[in-house]
Amino acid sequence: MILHEFHCKQCDKQFEEMVSSNQETPRCPSCGSQEVKRLLCAVKRTGGNADPDALGNACGPVGGFS
Ligand SMILES: [Zn+2]
Repeated sequence: MILHEFHCKQCDKQFEEMVSSNQETPRCPSCGSQEVKRLLCAVKRTGGNADPDALGNACGPVGGFS
């Protein structure tokens, strides 16, 4: 399961959703639309700088690990 960030085209809302695959597209929690666009992988900002390598691992190409 990877936390992804999505943007709803219908209500212009941005939300995060855990998805199990890169093909999965969740519905907007606000309006229920499936017209959502996947954004870059969400990064939990806990105060430190995001590690590009760690981000790459989390958002790596399909087939990296599952
Ligand atoms: Zn929406």
